[in-house]
Amino acid sequence: MSKEHTTTKDSQQSSIDLASALIKRGELVQARDLLSRRIINAPDDYKARLLLRESFLQPGTDSDHGTGEKSCPCCNNSFSFFLPGGPSFRPDACCPACESLERHRFLCLILERLLPATTADASMIHVAPEQSLSPILREKLNNRYFTIDRFADADIQCDLCLMPFGTDSIELFMANHVLEHVKDDRLAMREIRRILKPKGRALLQVPLDHTLSTTQEAPEGATHEDLLRLFGQDDHVRQYGTDFKDRLEQSGFTVREHTCFNTVTPKDIKTYGLHKDEIVWEAIKA
Ligand SMILES: [Zn+2]
Repeated sequence: MSKEHTTTKDSQQSSIDLASALIKRGELVQARDLLSRRIINAPDDYKARLLLRESFLQPGTDSDHGTGEKSCPCCNNSFSFFLPGGPSFRPDACCPACESLERHRFLCLILERLLPATTADASMIHVAPEQSLSPILREKLNNRYFTIDRFADADIQCDLCLMPFGTDSIELFMANHVLEHVKDDRLAMREIRRILKPKGRALLQVPLDHTLSTTQEAPEGATHEDLLRLFGQDDHVRQYGTDFKDRLEQSGFTVREHTCFNTVTPKDIKTYGLHKDEIVWEAIKA
């Protein structure tokens, strides 16, 4: 190993050690500043990311979260900036404390408005639960909140197209960035509609290409390499276009689109670090 490489590694380790010591002494502003600068320069520095996240779990530090220009509705912390996030580490994307991305924060704002409107004993199903949202919902809804996933850890392991819930049994359903993975998404939409109570609603998010008017399906027999080339991810089986809403309506839902334009102010977009093209579809069982 070259001397230069060893020195860089040593200095990286020493700044982690320094940040750890600062956190232990309660000097959180300095520790967070040091760690944030490291992460901006090297977004894949997961050691620094973990330590920064831990700094927000320190007890008795509520008023010590930076300048407060940015704020996360998922964890209620505020910061001077968001960190790079997502697969390509896009700037201003990720909450330093709870790792929420733009779409999670937008959804959290929508949920804040919609949850009080549901009945006090409403049940909710959350598919492939996001860590930045699931704990909040579990705390709010307690034993009326269930997570489901086909492969990963969840309250119930099941397929979205065949769920072990009665017809007309659930008030609220949520699946974010899930349907683009499901081979027969129309079957999944019908199954979601089946389990919802009349007037029950599904909150859905999918990656959408706003320039595409017709959803593009994977060709029969497409390999993982084909999917990666076509859709940018080897486990996506389609690219949704602006006809996503039509698909929901064809599956029997009344659909309301929540966008940054009809839901939040330009100031909110800046403060909460939202993506202006983000949409949450609220599919209501008529
Ligand atoms: Zn957060």
